[in-house]
Amino acid sequence: MEMYNCRRCKKLFPRLREPICSDCIQQDEDLFNDVKNFLRDNPKTLIADVAAETGASAKKILGWLREGRLEIVGGDLTCKACGEGISTGIFCEPCQSKVNQDLDAMENSVGAARAALEAEARSNVVTMHSRAKK
Ligand SMILES: [Zn+2]
Ligand SMILES: [Zn+2]
Repeated sequence: MEMYNCRRCKKLFPRLREPICSDCIQQDEDLFNDVKNFLRDNPKTLIADVAAETGASAKKILGWLREGRLEIVGGDLTCKACGEGISTGIFCEPCQSKVNQDLDAMENSVGAARAALEAEARSNVVTMHSRAKK
């Protein structure tokens, strides 16, 4: 089995999937549980306070919040689109549904454009007409 240096603790370990060893993964999980428990008891907290209380880095906590694994109501997690305070994830609800709509609209317009091109390809008249316009 091939051995790699753990990206975090530099220990040699048989690499499976993660760039860090099982000890470090376990450490992360423990830390995550600490943060989760802390937030369950203190849901109204600033990220910096959670970091200070649990020893997890603010960056790591933010990552977990963005992944939707944690919720916080301290107000310093904000929607990436409009800056509104949110408790978890990346966007507030209105922006999230807007993002979903935009994706739908994009897919629809791509589909419509493709259908129009196919229709044009089937019809020589339309093709000649549109060429003449150029
Ligand atoms: Zn490690
Ligand atoms: Zn928003």
